[in-house]
Amino acid sequence: MPSSVENVVIVGTGCAGLTAAVYAARANLAPLVLEGAMPGGQLTTTSDVENFPGFPEGVDGFQLMDNLRKQAGRFGARFEPARVESVDFSAQPLKLRTSEREISTRTAIIATGASPRLMGVPGEKEYFGGKGVTTCATCDGAFFRNMDVVVVGGGDSACEEALFLTRFASKVTLIHRRDTLRASKIMAGRTLAHPKIAPAWDSVLTEVLGTPQGGVSGVKVRDVKTGTERVIPCKGVFMAIGHLPNTQAFTSALAVDDNGYFLPVNGSQVKTKVPGVYVAGDCADHVYRQAVTAAGMGCQAAIEAERWLAEHGG
Ligand code: NAP
Repeated sequence: MPSSVENVVIVGTGCAGLTAAVYAARANLAPLVLEGAMPGGQLTTTSDVENFPGFPEGVDGFQLMDNLRKQAGRFGARFEPARVESVDFSAQPLKLRTSEREISTRTAIIATGASPRLMGVPGEKEYFGGKGVTTCATCDGAFFRNMDVVVVGGGDSACEEALFLTRFASKVTLIHRRDTLRASKIMAGRTLAHPKIAPAWDSVLTEVLGTPQGGVSGVKVRDVKTGTERVIPCKGVFMAIGHLPNTQAFTSALAVDDNGYFLPVNGSQVKTKVPGVYVAGDCADHVYRQAVTAAGMGCQAAIEAERWLAEHGG
């Protein structure tokens, strides 16, 4: 029977959370891992992950996360579906409140990741999820077979989404607010060389058009240099304009920067001002934001938690 006070609670099951779970479980700490609304995190919405070390042919994102979860489970990690709503880190044991219960723990690793950002333009919410606007080509691309679609953004995600969509769509217009892509050279090169992808440079999405019955029919974009507006007909709109860190439930106890990312302390990537509380992955990293860097932070956080427990009689 687990004690009523946990050794380690890990919040989040992306690369950071699950790597922390592998390390904490292997250290015999029987971590409790809280799985939120998106088990497996952002990688479960990716197709081929080509840059995770050790996979020369690439690896399917969902498969990678499933493997990590099994690896953590094999060493004794326990999983519970729960969303943390608030915390009290003012004293030991630390308290995490979900809609179901209050969890007491000696250490906590917050690895809640980041969620896709939306534009906030008219029509976006109305047509989101099943009606044409989405943030996940891997999940929804197949619904747009032989149709025209647009992708909004100029980073690696936008390029990845656009390239993936060429498998299904007849044409992919990449709407970007500048005239050069932010994406890495290799991704930008592949994207711009693809015959099905056409860039719409210097263009900002201003409205998603459609009807409640028929869903999306097009998007309105404004040319930022000339101010002229035009309509691009399409059935699907894929938003890929970055992410927002999922830190809201913890801001009463932990420091965040102007963009909401956790701010670690003492020259560490993972330590916070609260002893025994660590952060890892995209919720605390707006610079690298890679699966492998998130995994590295998860490893660091678990080792720190293990040391804290050892030093405090764990
Ligand atoms: P990102 O690099 O932050 O790019 C966001 C893009 O959206 C930028 O082009 C930005 O334009 C645009 N944008 C942001 N806000 C906007 C707005 N309000 N209106 C219009 N456009 C807006 O985000 P990301 O592409 O999701 O990538 C995040 C991180 O994950 C990066 O480090 C990336 O390298 C990594 N990643 C890697 C891979 C891979 O290697 N296979 C795949 C996906 C992601 P500006 O360029 O003008 O700022």
